[in-house]
Amino acid sequence: MRITEIYKSVQGESTYAGLPCVFIRTTGCDLRCSWCDSEFTFTGGAQMTLDQILAEVGKYDCELVELTGGEPLLQPEIYELATKLADSKHTVLIETGGHRDISKLDPRVIRIMDLKCPASGECERNLWSNLQHLRADDEVKFVIADRADYEWTLKTIREHELEDRVKLLISTAFGMIEPEQVVGWMLADKLRARFQLQLHKYIWPPDARGR
Ligand code: SF4
Repeated sequence: MRITEIYKSVQGESTYAGLPCVFIRTTGCDLRCSWCDSEFTFTGGAQMTLDQILAEVGKYDCELVELTGGEPLLQPEIYELATKLADSKHTVLIETGGHRDISKLDPRVIRIMDLKCPASGECERNLWSNLQHLRADDEVKFVIADRADYEWTLKTIREHELEDRVKLLISTAFGMIEPEQVVGWMLADKLRARFQLQLHKYIWPPDARGR
């Protein structure tokens, strides 16, 4: 597998935010979100075998492990890696852009799946069939950059009755809109979703890697 970095930090987004977590960050992404903060994952990285990755993860002695990228579902071996991590008693999270099929992942894996809003420029890539595979433990994330994104998010959530089916996460595209504005809209619409800030951006210096 092509790996950009493996490191221990605190989980920055999702209902697991704030917990110690080992991140396995794969290389490569087939989207180009307008507000992407992970361009460094698009190229480079190092080839690692599954055994090398598992050995590296083992050094950290941490129960929570997240597969992230780039887009981890681009890597054919990600399914086997996720299963092996679950077999070794890890809680396994995967963060995916939501445009690739999530159904083949080991059922023990918790999927944190984006639905890309219009301002990302990648809204057309959302794979809607993924919604039918979601379970109550999974999380669906929307990154809001403007009012049109919020309205699209609200419509999508209500049309697919997502408030009753999964955990919902709403964040802002960093620096593009004030959190206060989005929270105000959510409260006005009685949206049953978790508003979140990207914790890691408040803890570490800008452009910090391995954190
Ligand atoms: S899916 Fe993630 S890594 Fe890929 S372009 Fe979008 S924000 Fe960047």
